[in-house]
Amino acid sequence: MLNRKIALVTGASRGIGREIALTLAGYGATVVVNYNGSKEKAQEVVQEIKDNGGNAIALQASVSKSEEVEAMIKEVMEQFGRIDILVNNAGITKDNLVMKMSNEDFDAVIDTNLKGTFYCMKQVYRIMLKQKSGRIINISSVTGVMGNAGQVNYAASKAGVIGMTKSLARELASRGITVNAVAPGFIETEMTEVLSDKVKEAVEGQIPLKRMGQVKDVAEAVAFLASDKASYITGQVLHVDGGMAM
Ligand code: NAP
Repeated sequence: MLNRKIALVTGASRGIGREIALTLAGYGATVVVNYNGSKEKAQEVVQEIKDNGGNAIALQASVSKSEEVEAMIKEVMEQFGRIDILVNNAGITKDNLVMKMSNEDFDAVIDTNLKGTFYCMKQVYRIMLKQKSGRIINISSVTGVMGNAGQVNYAASKAGVIGMTKSLARELASRGITVNAVAPGFIETEMTEVLSDKVKEAVEGQIPLKRMGQVKDVAEAVAFLASDKASYITGQVLHVDGGMAM
């Protein structure tokens, strides 16, 4: 489905990004596994892809730093000469009630989730224009759609990602490039592992399908949007949330 495609997945050392990298590679894409701090985990993802007969490399860069993103994209172009699929997955949370939320924690979440997505989209823009093809998939969140107490910074970043997705989709539509968002609900990863059993039960009560999602649920949605099967879909938000946001 993705043979000969070059895919860059940000924050692919762990969690949802890791599964997206493995899934895209499983469909034939060569995958650039971006990470920030988890070098060994990123290398494990690369090894797993290679063990399964695929092709991948790991590249360190903090998406919150535009110069590091620029250097990473340059490296990808030197090694592979094109970028067909960009998945902006890297993300962090720093939850707190507004009265206790520091300005630094607000900025940190915006810097990684929102500005990081912008920096990566900006860097692949010209490359995809030249190619006259490309797929950009941004990972938003149910929180960006519905809001969530204690997540004002995160909700702002993820709602912003949806606004950027729709705007860039309009900018690039005439050039054969699609831009979509995937909005996961509560997915079992290290990000949600920290939640208490009580919170998890309360969350499950709000999910019509009555279970938390798995990383595979998100990864398959991303693979679909990255494939030729989704060539007439742009500017959309695909909710992978067990029905939470309907
Ligand atoms: P996770 O398990 O905490 O993994 C986060 C990933 O992002 C790691 O690979 C981490 O890399 C990377 N990352 C963090 N800061 C980075 C930076 N500055 N530059 C590059 N990479 C960075 O999170 P997850 O649950 O898989 O979430 C992945 C995405 O899905 C996020 O955008 C998140 O907001 C979104 N999401 C998650 C859920 C959920 O329920 N889990 C729900 C909705 C949306 P290092 O370890 O190398 O630092």
